[in-house]
Amino acid sequence: MADDKKSEMEAVLRKQRAAHHQMRPELMALRKDRIERAMNLLKKHGDDLCKVMSADFGNRSPHQSMITDIAGTISFGKYCLKNMDKWARPEKRHVQFPLGLLGAKAQLRYEPKGVIGILSPWNFPVNLSFGPLMQVFAAGNRAMIKPSEFTEKTSQLTQELVAEYFTPDECAVFTGGPEVAAAFSELPFDHLVFTGSTATGRRVMEAASKNLVPVTLELGGKSPVFMGESADFAKAGERIALGKMMNAGQICLAPDYLYVPESKQDEAIHGVWQGTANMYPTLLENEDYASVVSDRHFDRLQGLVADARDKGAEVIEVNPGNEDFSNANQRKMPLTILKGVTDDMKAMQEEIFGPVLPVKTYKGIDEAIDYVNEHDRPLGLYYFGEDSGEREKVLTKTISGGVTVNDVIFHVSMEDLPFGGVGPSGMGSYHGVEGFREFSHARSVYTQPKIDVAKLGGFKPPYGAATEKAVKTMMK
Ligand code: NAD
Repeated sequence: MADDKKSEMEAVLRKQRAAHHQMRPELMALRKDRIERAMNLLKKHGDDLCKVMSADFGNRSPHQSMITDIAGTISFGKYCLKNMDKWARPEKRHVQFPLGLLGAKAQLRYEPKGVIGILSPWNFPVNLSFGPLMQVFAAGNRAMIKPSEFTEKTSQLTQELVAEYFTPDECAVFTGGPEVAAAFSELPFDHLVFTGSTATGRRVMEAASKNLVPVTLELGGKSPVFMGESADFAKAGERIALGKMMNAGQICLAPDYLYVPESKQDEAIHGVWQGTANMYPTLLENEDYASVVSDRHFDRLQGLVADARDKGAEVIEVNPGNEDFSNANQRKMPLTILKGVTDDMKAMQEEIFGPVLPVKTYKGIDEAIDYVNEHDRPLGLYYFGEDSGEREKVLTKTISGGVTVNDVIFHVSMEDLPFGGVGPSGMGSYHGVEGFREFSHARSVYTQPKIDVAKLGGFKPPYGAATEKAVKTMMK
């Protein structure tokens, strides 16, 4: 990587930090103005951004992009505007007896951290850079964004638009490949938000640790779907198909594999098959169905299927229009269900992130719970069924970033719920008040009364009877 880029990023960081110090406190009116500008950028250029996203993917439905990347992010901006005064209010905290009576005060203030780095992936390139940006701004920070090199045209347009709507000391975008990304993650930010794979997340945290930069890591993993005996398999199949087929399964929260009662396996598979066929009667010429983003990812997915087949899985292609994918040169891949999977198959070892769906069976729900607990904590976990006892058992005996009951993915769309992973699926969260707090420094402010509290409490030398009395009281 050209050292120029590194120096340029360092210079912008210095400039942003200097501007931040000069402008403290970052007024609420200015923070709101920044959010509004980000929303206006998306409103005015949403169509253009959808076009370049589609070009970057090969095909990606502009309708889908409008929902997931443009309208969804604008709606999140509106939610921030509505709630940020409340979020930013200082909180009065309790002071121990008798300090309160003596006039002591304790207060918690949510203050901006300064300059926040945002490293984003390709799968929802606008949402995953502008989404965090809304709360970064709400909390009074400035931002530097490094979008993914896989969605190059989108990253380029984002850079141009941000330069048009913001001064470089408010927000700036840097494009480039993994080398630029690595240099970006080494910058001494006041906080760094990374969205991407667990493997890269590890590298980002290591780089950030050199400057003790706090990180929010929004990572991936294998999000399981628990299907109970009491599930409505037709309805569940439809919902799973919607979640799995959107963006061709390239969603961090996509249902990664199904865990179904042994006796219901065929019913569950039929439900997903039918749900897919209802929404996508054909795939190749169907604009609603996205392509896999790159040849590398396409080959990886084909490899997962081949490996599973070689090791004994039954491969069921959901190809309702009987189309010929073998010569299609557009990286479209039908939903491919893998029946009879075993743990030695790659599809059961790595995050799938595409239209491949392994199905595992269990004899009793405890077996499924144990399996999930023996593996990395997932980002999302899904339960289908009407048995509240079983549902609570699954929820209270497992750990995951978030949960959707009787559907998949939907919890991320609840603006007021924090979104994030746990352990290998991530740390920290945004959305909800938690996002505002994530990008704020919770600063404790204690005000001492006029009276000599230390002497009164026996904490001031020469120590003596008052000290012993105070210690006894504290230990009682
Ligand atoms: P990725 O980890 O390959 O890349 C993400 C970003 O990291 C890109 O901007 C890239 O330029 C940068 N990068 C690459 N090498 C780097 C390095 N050495 N140091 C620092 N940064 C580097 O991820 P991806 O393929 O773009 O996205 C897919 C992954 O993201 C999946 O695992 C998915 O589950 C996850 N994801 C998570 C969320 C979430 O919110 N939890 C959302 C979307 C995607």
